[in-house]
Amino acid sequence: MDLFYRSTRNNQIKVKASEAILKGLADDGGLFVPDTIPTLDKSLRELAQMNYQETAYEVMKLFLTDFTEEELKNCINKAYDSKFDTKAIAPLKYADGAYFLELFHGATIAFKDMALSILPHLLTTSAKKNQVTDEIVILTATSGDTGKAALAGFADVEGTKIIVFYPKDGVSPIQEKQMVTQKGANTWVVGIRGNFDDAQTGVKKMFNNKELAEVMKRAGYQFSSANSINIGRLVPQIVYYVYAYTRLLGEGKIADGQKINAVVPTGNFGNILAAYYAKLMGVPFNKLICASNDNKVLYDFFQTGSYDRNREFILTSSPSMDILISSNLERLIYRIAGNDSEKTADLMKALSAKGSYTITEEMKQALAEFKGGYATEDKTAAVIKKIYEQDGYIIDTHTAVAASVYEEYKKNSKDDTVTVIASTASPYKFTRSVMNAIDEKYASMSDFELVDELERLSGVKVPQAIEDIRTAPVLHDRVCDKSEMQKTVEEILGL
Ligand SMILES: *Cc1c(COP(=O)(O)O)cnc(C)c1O
Repeated sequence: MDLFYRSTRNNQIKVKASEAILKGLADDGGLFVPDTIPTLDKSLRELAQMNYQETAYEVMKLFLTDFTEEELKNCINKAYDSKFDTKAIAPLKYADGAYFLELFHGATIAFKDMALSILPHLLTTSAKKNQVTDEIVILTATSGDTGKAALAGFADVEGTKIIVFYPKDGVSPIQEKQMVTQKGANTWVVGIRGNFDDAQTGVKKMFNNKELAEVMKRAGYQFSSANSINIGRLVPQIVYYVYAYTRLLGEGKIADGQKINAVVPTGNFGNILAAYYAKLMGVPFNKLICASNDNKVLYDFFQTGSYDRNREFILTSSPSMDILISSNLERLIYRIAGNDSEKTADLMKALSAKGSYTITEEMKQALAEFKGGYATEDKTAAVIKKIYEQDGYIIDTHTAVAASVYEEYKKNSKDDTVTVIASTASPYKFTRSVMNAIDEKYASMSDFELVDELERLSGVKVPQAIEDIRTAPVLHDRVCDKSEMQKTVEEILGL
């Protein structure tokens, strides 16, 4: 039987999985959510015998019910292949009393690869299923990480082109180098003279430009987005929570049915929502601990039941979590509102009108399994140093936010449940902050000297993604004014 997806803001809007993937966002601005969260139809013991790709199939088949077995397996096998530097795909490492689930073994060494390596295949398969013959043009504005992961995912995927805009002077040198060295005949990277907001506004304008859509259609193109609210990004993320649990079970670290905690460094609320969905599917999770950096909107929300974005935006050493509007939280709100789309729409209206909303006491009670925490910059740095000195294991700044929150949680709650911490980036991606946390003496070294020093300290080989940018030639040098973004797209597509 097919599982349908509805908009969080209007229950009347109902589509199949492939249509939800193609559309990304519902027409009313709501997010697509499945009518019910399916439960696993294999036992956790059986799943413990399966590898990553097989586990992915068992999870994703329950959500993407209009994909055939062949289609889905084809997508999975194209995504989780030798682009990952370990056969385990998402290995667990034990340190400081917890299991770190390393989600950074893909092409761009951050957890975005877990979903963006499969999304292009889900998208092109969805297009075929829905008789879309146009070539799909992915437009993305990026402040650094998502752009590179999307480029790597879509590079040379037949039937797609990808154009990424980034603020010319607004990303780190390593991030820029990662993007402008991107290979693939269907990739374009454009620096704009403007900031990230300008880039995002420009992209949104093109998405909403009806005339441009007409011209595109005539030339055989249509736009799509690789945004993190697409269920084609959310569903693949559920897989590694099922996988983490079944690895622990298979290795005898936990017994059948034994509950575990998960700690997730959170920004847009996509990763932790995937953990919640895994729990609803039947994986015995106890607490889901949501870790924030100094931008602690979510911590305050779990404390008080009020979400309030009216606050200063703080730049931290965990930039991928510097977010004041966590888009995917809307899916949780919808669920705790009893799948009430009217109520959800009202709260989201309040969020866009005044930047805040408050949930009811009843809704708040439905959040009992979530626990919020946050880590300051000092605490984040301190935990990197501590775990390195104690275990010789080096974690990145985002993962460190989670490790610090867990340390505090354990101290206060005395909860000694087996715990998995989502490790969302390789320390090589944030080398400077990581090395500075370990010792101030590193402040005077260059970026690549630090990379070599990190290799020496950690004993973990420098990943290919970093080796590549040492020597790779620059393949993209296009720069345009923020007012010329559409003209640039028209030139690229020959419109
Ligand atoms: C995107 C990102 C996060 C936040 O994940 P969400 O799904 O947005 O909550 C955390 N860490 C890293 C390294 C990321 O790239």
